[in-house]
Amino acid sequence: MNINAASLYEELFSLYGNTQWWPGETDDEIILGAILTQNTSWSNVEKSLSRIRNEGLMKLEMLADIDKSHLIELIHSSGFYNQKARTIIELSKMIVSNYGGIDAMKNESNEKLEAFIKPISGIGQETMDAILCYALDKPVFVVDKYTLRLMDRLGVKNVSNIRKAKEYVLASIGEDLGKLKNLHGLIVNFSKDYCRSKPACNDCPLRNKCDFASGKQD
Ligand code: SF4
Repeated sequence: MNINAASLYEELFSLYGNTQWWPGETDDEIILGAILTQNTSWSNVEKSLSRIRNEGLMKLEMLADIDKSHLIELIHSSGFYNQKARTIIELSKMIVSNYGGIDAMKNESNEKLEAFIKPISGIGQETMDAILCYALDKPVFVVDKYTLRLMDRLGVKNVSNIRKAKEYVLASIGEDLGKLKNLHGLIVNFSKDYCRSKPACNDCPLRNKCDFASGKQD
């Protein structure tokens, strides 16, 4: 089945509406969440974010100067705390010293921002895209493992990696920031409810549009 991204968006939007993705009260908190969520569940991230918030440290200027062992204590629930603490401190320092804060970054081009963020240890493509899209309001689609699995199962042609998945979304959704933000959240919700590692195809609203469910895939 070759459903385009705009049609997929409408299908999922009819199920979940506006997901308000990414969860986070401020741009600084979104950046932290994007780093902390690597290889762990969001419930673990929430515990870390809440501890940072309760200590009044949810500002990059404060995190740039925080004692690393203290940050490790605060983010312990998110796992990989040593690496994540290093990444949070390094990124915070770089943003504060080069831009003064997030707002000034929003005027930069995507290319410049990618070149700035990419070299930071502990930030891969998905994390960088989440920062660009949700904290910096750049029209970038965040591709995660759920996205690639869903596209593959639906039978979307030629979507086998992050670059191709982005091209697929760009082709029919373009640079509509609101839809790009929401589509990622819609796919996460749908993948947790239906298209899990063991998919619930019998109950799935997309089963009539899906190659996997119609037996065209193993
Ligand atoms: S029918 Fe099954 S494999 Fe296809 S999208 Fe739904 S849950 Fe996923």
